[in-house]
Amino acid sequence: MQNQFTGVINQLNKTCKIIKIEHDELEILSRPDRIIEVSLPVLMDNGRIKVFTGYRVQYNNIRGPYKGGIRFHPDVNLDEVKSLAFWMTIKCAVADIPYGGGKGGVAVDVKELSQGELERLTRAYTRGFADFIGPYRDVPAPDVYTTPQIMAWLMDEYSHIKGENTPAVVTGKPVEIGGSLGRDTATSLGGFFVFEQVLSKMSGMGGKDQLSIAVQGFGNVGMNFALIAYHAGYKITAVSDSRGGIYDPEGLNIEEVLSHKQTAGSVVNFNGLENITNEQLLELPVDIVVPAALENVINEANADKIKAKIILEMGNGPTTPEAEAALLKKGALIVPDVLANSGGVIVSYFEWVQNLRHYYWEQDKVEANLEKQVVRAFEKVWQAKEGNGCDMRVAAYTVAVERLVKALSVRGI
Ligand code: NAD
Repeated sequence: MQNQFTGVINQLNKTCKIIKIEHDELEILSRPDRIIEVSLPVLMDNGRIKVFTGYRVQYNNIRGPYKGGIRFHPDVNLDEVKSLAFWMTIKCAVADIPYGGGKGGVAVDVKELSQGELERLTRAYTRGFADFIGPYRDVPAPDVYTTPQIMAWLMDEYSHIKGENTPAVVTGKPVEIGGSLGRDTATSLGGFFVFEQVLSKMSGMGGKDQLSIAVQGFGNVGMNFALIAYHAGYKITAVSDSRGGIYDPEGLNIEEVLSHKQTAGSVVNFNGLENITNEQLLELPVDIVVPAALENVINEANADKIKAKIILEMGNGPTTPEAEAALLKKGALIVPDVLANSGGVIVSYFEWVQNLRHYYWEQDKVEANLEKQVVRAFEKVWQAKEGNGCDMRVAAYTVAVERLVKALSVRGI
């Protein structure tokens, strides 16, 4: 498999060929503005010091401050952070919010850290990047294995360094310190709005109760998506987390699965159902697969075995370019991450606006504005798809690249 970032830039080149953009702008969008790598010494509970490596990639800020989450996961590496930062640039442009793109990460297994160690690591990360982040510079957010509590420590440390309360330096905070109502479920709710729009455009899919959905990843995004879809009357037949999955062709009671996960720590071993692997989940005879965990899970090795007609990419980068080509050939519809999961950054934007104005919205207002923004993005992408006769990812990139290039040309270099 090629290096991930190379694949990402090939995708950009493919789009630029379709919309015939000038070489110079393409060159600017093909590389990050800035890559920062920092050593983070952390005092561990055993009295010893451990040095972690922290990354922040500031990809492009032509449309607004850099924006993107921080990931704490053992597999974090610079190639991945660059790819994620590029996708954030595209995503913010697709969603048409005034942000550029960035991403951060630390290679760490948070399950091996105590709360105290996790807090000290987060504060070290904040000190390491304090000169580079800020409400008008670069605004981090949660991602895999980073939580509202971690965002609260980041906001607190940054506020101490600057000597002033600065909630707008980070989004995804707890509501008590300036988080937005509805941010915790925003990515999933946004994805659900997109999902219903997609269904409305497709004929012959059948009614809600006839559609089966498998969700990979039962974290913030996957779990909330499963819950929202379940309560809306869809049949969720499989879910999984890092320890494996469960499958019931009759449909799972997601509320019960959630309370099982809360007590047992995983969705596996639920109600006497047979456990399945994460690989098996993707190949089940379902109508919709929702990858909501890590990258490259749909790849050359399994693309031919995937039976779903719709792949709703709630996680970032779940489908490799090779797998995408194979799936498109089979007639599957891939709803790309840069559109499907843009609800998270849209409500992060609302949170930032609320922080800067010191005026807080009711949840209804957050959700109504989310729906308006994400449906508008969907319609623009769908139009580009129909107009260019291309797939949805190329359509989304087309919308984004056109907006980025316009911003570049009016600002000048
Ligand atoms: P999370 O940490 O809350 O949940 C991750 C889930 O994935 C957990 O259930 C974990 O058990 C599971 N998991 C880990 N390794 C796995 C594996 N190998 N196979 C299957 N499952 C595995 O993270 P999240 O915030 O839900 O993020 C999930 C995805 O959504 C990521 O790709 C992230 O970049 C993307 N995303 C998140 C947001 C957000 O607002 N949180 C926004 C946009 C995109």
